[in-house]
Amino acid sequence: MKKLGYKPHVIRGVERTVIGAIGDERTHQSLETLTTWPQVEKVMPVQKRYKLVSREGHRSNSTIDVRGNTIGGKKLQVMAGPCSVESEIQLLTTAEAVKKSGATILRGGAFKPPTSPYEFQGLGAKGLKLLAKARRETGLAIITELLSEDHAELVAEYTDIIQIGARNAQNFQLLIAAARTGKPVLLKRGLSMKIEEWLLAGEYVLAHGNPNLFFCERGIRTFETYTRNTLDLSTIPIIKQESHCPIVIDPSQGAGRSDLVIALCKGAVAMGADALLIEVHPSPCEAWSDGAQQVTLEGFARLMEELKPFIAAAGRE
Ligand code: PEP
Ligand code: MN
Repeated sequence: MKKLGYKPHVIRGVERTVIGAIGDERTHQSLETLTTWPQVEKVMPVQKRYKLVSREGHRSNSTIDVRGNTIGGKKLQVMAGPCSVESEIQLLTTAEAVKKSGATILRGGAFKPPTSPYEFQGLGAKGLKLLAKARRETGLAIITELLSEDHAELVAEYTDIIQIGARNAQNFQLLIAAARTGKPVLLKRGLSMKIEEWLLAGEYVLAHGNPNLFFCERGIRTFETYTRNTLDLSTIPIIKQESHCPIVIDPSQGAGRSDLVIALCKGAVAMGADALLIEVHPSPCEAWSDGAQQVTLEGFARLMEELKPFIAAAGRE
């Protein structure tokens, strides 16, 4: 241990001897290699591997201001809009309707990450311009996905929140590029990402000088086939315990089914989510992506109404 740069502190028990290693792993070599010694049963890190996202170093909840809307405060914020930006009429119709129902942030993918290269890839820069137009006309803030480091400056020029998608949740160079734009970053949980890995991915954003990070649970891959993903609502109290950063729930990618979205939103609000990210489309059956999970404009209005008693019961506005 001394050779590796740590100060050993020996505790002799009846059955075992525990040796504490005092030092900073960022400046010293990793102790993990000691498990190769026959005398060493286990090497256990005492400190959390994430520091800046951790609640240990920042007791109070972080709040993030997005165009005058506080996320992580008393008000439950709703981000809503289509999966993909398709046209001016589609986006503006949706924007007006979700605003009327109480959403404060408009979502819409301009750069899309479809699993197949033959599926809709998004309108790109044209989609960003339409989002900016919708913001001008409605006053709603904008969230859209950043897919590539090459687009970081372009996307940041238009959006108020940068979304990092599930497929890129551990693309660390992309996370660094997003952090450096200075815009708030919403980090989706990867399809098969452990919570610790997610927290560490978030750590990249804070470690690169950007304190405005949201974690967004959007379902993980399991054996279940009734839903597209398994929405893990236990992440709400876990993220709240482990981190000071706000937690957002995306029931749309979470379920992959529009009929489950209301129930999942109620559960998320009751469990303490700070915000919801919901896919809404004027005509889901004609959507260019994720049609099965998008709720209609009327469905969204109903959802917002039905959510009210849950918001009040959770002590929020
Ligand atoms: C989306 O929000 O439309 C999306 C592609 O999300 P995810 O990265 O969670 O699949
Ligand atoms: Mn989608």
